[in-house]
Amino acid sequence: MPGFDAIIDQERSIRVLTSLLTSGSIPHGLLFTGIEGVGKRTAATAFAMACNCTGKRVEGRGEACGECTACRRIAADRHPDVLRVSPSGLQIKIDQIRSLCQSLAMKPYEARTRVAIVAEAHRMNPAAGNALLKMLEEPPDRTILILTAPQTADLLPTIVSRCQHIRFKPIARRHIAAMLAAAYGFSPEDAQLTATLANGSVTRALAMQRRGWVQRRKWILSEMAELAQRPTTSLLALAEKSSQAKEDIPEMLDLMATWVRDVAVARYSPDRIIHQDLKDPILEASRRSDPECLIRAGRAIEEARRRIRANSNPRLTLEALWLTLAASAPAAAGM
Ligand SMILES: [Zn+2]
Repeated sequence: MPGFDAIIDQERSIRVLTSLLTSGSIPHGLLFTGIEGVGKRTAATAFAMACNCTGKRVEGRGEACGECTACRRIAADRHPDVLRVSPSGLQIKIDQIRSLCQSLAMKPYEARTRVAIVAEAHRMNPAAGNALLKMLEEPPDRTILILTAPQTADLLPTIVSRCQHIRFKPIARRHIAAMLAAAYGFSPEDAQLTATLANGSVTRALAMQRRGWVQRRKWILSEMAELAQRPTTSLLALAEKSSQAKEDIPEMLDLMATWVRDVAVARYSPDRIIHQDLKDPILEASRRSDPECLIRAGRAIEEARRRIRANSNPRLTLEALWLTLAASAPAAAGM
């Protein structure tokens, strides 16, 4: 049930939201900012539920019951007075905001407080942004607009100034690790590593879990440890194989970067190695590599990231990367 209790590690933001609910003075515009996957949309849904709940509730807590008809319909996205807009393709277009305005110009069907959620509001094109601004300037009756975005700087300042701003911080690593262990039976090491690489985003951690990330990590890092003196054909085959799941490539590049980082720090502070379960091969690689080849490897990974973001051919990009990494790997073993 997407109530506030489904959101981890955002006590402060949730306290602000529940105090708005209990005080009864809810602003017309709310802006939730934070990186992807920290609970902004879940909080928006929970807020809409709390505004319209008709069930039994704990006095003074401002939370929804999660069980009444209104709560259940909002949670299932089947409530006529909770409207959602999100990018169609890369942008939120003017037509989407116009049709939202038209719906909001009418009276709510049944809700005490109608809620319109504009997710990824930073993707509004300028025309859509201006149309939304008009709506914030003359808010429709009994209606709250909730916008979500990574940061205020991504939005028109005039929009930001009309909303109460609530910040959602990245989720602490230990909370993500605990969730992975409890819900998916991750071992403590796997949970810790996945949480580190998820970089504060629960959504990202869950996507990594879904895509068999744990096995993939073992595979990629064992390849990283054995790059030196590999024949070109084998490197090209590796590029082919590692480029197949296109959506996994950014994470794979992050992973490769943590390996290079581990090799770089291993010599001076082995306790700071992220991949503690691979400490031995990392120390071995560290002994054999010099700073220059590590810098070269780091740059090659950065270049691959840039190309993938720019939509270059994944296989060609990874061919160049694996060949460069192998060429910078010291002769004996590992990097
Ligand atoms: Zn309810």
